[in-house]
Amino acid sequence: MKLIFEQSQPGRSACALPKPDVPEAPLDKLVPAQYLRQSPPGLPEVDELTLVRHYTELSRRNVGVDNVFYPLGSCTMKYNPKINETLAGLSGLNEIHPYQPEETVQGILQIIYELGECLKEISGLDAVSMAPAAGAHGEFTGIKTIKAFHKANHQEQRIQVLIPDSAHGTNPASVAFCGYEPVEIKSDACGNVDLADLKSKLNDRTAAIMLTIPNTLGLFDEHMLKIAEMVHQSGALVYMDGANLNALMGIVKPADLGVDVLHFNLHKTFATPHGGGGPGAGPIAVTTKLAPFLPVPVITREPLKDGKSGDTSVLKKQHLYSLSRQKGDTSSILKMEHFYTFCCPDQSIGRIKGFYGNINVLVKAYIYIRMLGAEGLKKASQMAVLNANYILSQLKEYYPSTCSTQRLCMHECVLSGVKQMKESGVKTLDIAKRLIDYGFHPPTIYFPLIVHEALMIEPTETESKETLDGFIEAMKQIAKESKDNPQLVKSAPQTTVVKRLDEVKAARELVLRYQP
Ligand SMILES: *Cc1c(COP(=O)(O)O)cnc(C)c1O
Repeated sequence: MKLIFEQSQPGRSACALPKPDVPEAPLDKLVPAQYLRQSPPGLPEVDELTLVRHYTELSRRNVGVDNVFYPLGSCTMKYNPKINETLAGLSGLNEIHPYQPEETVQGILQIIYELGECLKEISGLDAVSMAPAAGAHGEFTGIKTIKAFHKANHQEQRIQVLIPDSAHGTNPASVAFCGYEPVEIKSDACGNVDLADLKSKLNDRTAAIMLTIPNTLGLFDEHMLKIAEMVHQSGALVYMDGANLNALMGIVKPADLGVDVLHFNLHKTFATPHGGGGPGAGPIAVTTKLAPFLPVPVITREPLKDGKSGDTSVLKKQHLYSLSRQKGDTSSILKMEHFYTFCCPDQSIGRIKGFYGNINVLVKAYIYIRMLGAEGLKKASQMAVLNANYILSQLKEYYPSTCSTQRLCMHECVLSGVKQMKESGVKTLDIAKRLIDYGFHPPTIYFPLIVHEALMIEPTETESKETLDGFIEAMKQIAKESKDNPQLVKSAPQTTVVKRLDEVKAARELVLRYQP
């Protein structure tokens, strides 16, 4: 189809404005002559139907979870139920303002509070902050909290954070941002943390270990309890990168593994749309001893009792009552048992985000959790792990790797294109591009760094067996093509509007402007 810009015909228009019913103001009197355009702006002139077709066509070229299988490892591109959008768009949630007095936004405060309670239950931890706006922001906040804890305990010589080489790439960055020194710990041949290496680097300068669980090989560390014990014995804390809780929720509570601080990625695990940089939410949960250091504000609640007047809770209830009477609705207020408010933890690290956090994402995650319930969340984890292992079992012989295809995986599996590379010079990038021709979004590639030619595949629990079978078939077919017709794979994609991009150039020299 021709682009809109190529269909322009002078004088054609998608809308007809009524003739002005006031005298036209002379332009040159309103705008100084030097600012007046010398020539028209060069926009395409098209009719309404052409305009509609243009945008519809563009939307079809957009790839997302709603049109294709999107197994982007580590990113959890699961289906986001549409009811989340409908409910998050309700006017009572959509038309409030963060500067409103708290007694007029009790509903949203209650949602944030209750979501926090759910996250405590899921993690087994004691206190939460809903403020961080993304996973990496949660890491930053969590590590800051750990730093404040050590400072309060006069342990400022603790300046290092240990990070396994199987951790997510944001971990060392967050640690460095907090003024700590990241120290790398090696993985052993089975994809676990190498305990001897950990032992040699653990000392009274260690502030924490930062573990991605499951790690980026898609594996659960078999020595988790031992690691936590060693770290705690040395006086350091255990930080868990819980961005991929999709494998664990409802099955194991991170607190039971010895975790002190954890961040969630609500925009992955709890089904809120993400990609292209946002929006997200990365709440953190901590143990009691770290709670005094959480950022402000922490949402709390206090009981509203019918007691003697003069009692502050009764006064609050009376205030709420009179507010809602003005709006003609008192029934819900009469039922309210708590007043939601916020507090400032006494040794707080301060404010890390405006207002209460990314409310829209919090609301959708809350709806998702309440819709699924405890059993549903557990089932989601089980299905995510089952789906990933199904793919692993079907493809490991075609795309074997030294460590990550030897064990059962968690919610994602890491395959390798080394075999194809050796046999015919087909790179993992080529395999990923060829998948586009088969109608699939490519998986994450070249990550984790510790697997050569890595293909990191996360199917999520929301995909059917038929979809997985289609993907598996395509991957087998590409393995065969790599042998029989490597040139076909190397020059993929063949079916897209734009063929193989120079990715560096595409990112650095974006052409975003139409020049007539
Ligand atoms: C996605 C991810 C992050 C970073 O989350 P953002 O919201 O993109 O900042 C951190 N750790 C792991 C393991 C992840 O998968």
